[in-house]
Amino acid sequence: MVYDKKKIFSLDKTKLTISFVGGSKAQKSFLRRSWEIIEYHLRDQLDFSWVKSDGEITVKFDEDDSKSFIGLDGLHAWHLKNRPSMRIRGAHSFSQRIILHEAFHMLGCKHQHVEAELRRSSRFGVNIANDTKSIMRYRQEGEKRNHHLSIGDIDFLHRYNEFREIGENWRKHIAEETQKIEDQRRVASMK
Ligand SMILES: [Zn+2]
Repeated sequence: MVYDKKKIFSLDKTKLTISFVGGSKAQKSFLRRSWEIIEYHLRDQLDFSWVKSDGEITVKFDEDDSKSFIGLDGLHAWHLKNRPSMRIRGAHSFSQRIILHEAFHMLGCKHQHVEAELRRSSRFGVNIANDTKSIMRYRQEGEKRNHHLSIGDIDFLHRYNEFREIGENWRKHIAEETQKIEDQRRVASMK
């Protein structure tokens, strides 16, 4: 699993409120049931709390392509960006593969098939490298689709707090480096 240290939720976030925008009873219940495996493996770290409206995360069913904001970008998107945190295309409503995939974006994860490219930057980390069975990998030529969570995906959930801590430390480091550069600039301009 490849995660974004800049956007993964902070360690102090132990509860995530989620609400739906539209969607039938069957669509909503299928998504919630599909995500139970994620909640199970995240337990004691981050709980999902389903609310009627105004969730920090909003999931909208519509005809647009399925997609999700990454981690922190998705929080309060409905108010801040006038957009849902996640969209599930009507035709994908009962695709567990897509519904699980979008949940990992919500948690701060990126696509596995671009791992090599992303990892040129210190901003992105992995738990288990080159996990080609990940639900976050797009099928590459000659491959079969991944329909289920890989061992690596599950390991990521088990150790979610560990990666959130790495993310927080990375953010702190970047903030300090930025401050240093600003200070140097200020000193230089006073000369
Ligand atoms: Zn995706």
